[in-house]
Amino acid sequence: MIKANYPVDKFRDITTPFYYYDLEVLRSSLAEINRHIDGQPFEVHYALKANVNPVVLKIIKEAGLGADCVSGGEVQAALNAGIAPSKIVFAGVGKADWEINLGLEHDVFCFNVESIPELEIIDELASAKGKIARVALRINPNVSANTHHYITTGLNENKFGINLTELEKVTQIVRNLQNVKLIGIHFHIGSQITDMTPFQDLCVKVNELQYHFEANGITLENINVGGGLGVNYEHPNHFPIAEYEAYFKVFRDHLTLRPGQTLHFELGRSIVAQCGSLISKVLYVKEGTSKKFVILDAGFTELIRPALYQAYHRVENLSSDLPEEKYDVVGPICESSDVFVKDYLMNQTKRGDIVALRSAGAYGEIMASGYNLRKLPKAYTSDELK
Ligand SMILES: *Cc1c(COP(=O)(O)O)cnc(C)c1O
Repeated sequence: MIKANYPVDKFRDITTPFYYYDLEVLRSSLAEINRHIDGQPFEVHYALKANVNPVVLKIIKEAGLGADCVSGGEVQAALNAGIAPSKIVFAGVGKADWEINLGLEHDVFCFNVESIPELEIIDELASAKGKIARVALRINPNVSANTHHYITTGLNENKFGINLTELEKVTQIVRNLQNVKLIGIHFHIGSQITDMTPFQDLCVKVNELQYHFEANGITLENINVGGGLGVNYEHPNHFPIAEYEAYFKVFRDHLTLRPGQTLHFELGRSIVAQCGSLISKVLYVKEGTSKKFVILDAGFTELIRPALYQAYHRVENLSSDLPEEKYDVVGPICESSDVFVKDYLMNQTKRGDIVALRSAGAYGEIMASGYNLRKLPKAYTSDELK
């Protein structure tokens, strides 16, 4: 098994489980993004919900990316990280009044609005502050992302966004509101999308919608196509960088921007997934009647994706080069769903071995919980453990 080149000796001195971020991988991803958007009217906002580790966030900010936030807490985190309000977009299907007010007070670039009642409340709160809120309508394009149903968001049956059938009505309403200014349209069709077809379908929808707005005499300055680009969870060592080349090319080739329009992206997973691993120690190897279980000191409290979405994370035993054997790799939590992988070939494993759960940089540390009164995991970076 090919394994990550990690400082295992240093890992031995640190209390497990913990997150480890390889900052070279992160920096390479960001450099690749910047290479593809250079000279284009493109702006990338990092979706903070994937990971808000302060070191990671700082590197992303320094690479020049903006922020995509889905809560007041994330807006505050983006501001604290020094990201300019003019680069912050604020989405979310249920923004509370205090969250809208926070966005208004800091003059965030745009509220991505998901319903008519939300639009009316933003207008009301902006009016109370004597401000004009910039808004984009999050439109549900009814495009299938061919991804897991828990992470599909662009179909009519999802709770997100404004359906196409309501668009005429919303366009009329937004016209009559005094304290909101419509500056764009927004989409987000799902996550972990590795086939470019859904993105191409989205471009076709955007092109159609542009005509709708033009016919209504509305000029949109911004088109925001959201995030969702996937990563290779099977082979993180071979594919540490997401398919940015193909991804940005789809939008360059298929989405027709009007002069002066900016195309916005909100990438989360693809930027941070591959730089992170959850590092854990083997507590016990237990022989079942027909299986062997590797019981780790990390469970779904540290990495919930397998339990929540049946997600796969590659598991590497960093301490063993012995022949491979088949194991179920599980956590210590008192729930049957606390399983990372089943019938999994891994180098022969013993108590005390250090394993890496790979591609855990996105929706890993940030989703950790204290269930079973466990401590939240700490995080270390390659810069610190050099
Ligand atoms: C989650 C989310 C993103 C980021 O999605 P990724 O799959 O991590 O790229 C972008 N925009 C919105 C509105 C989101 O909710």
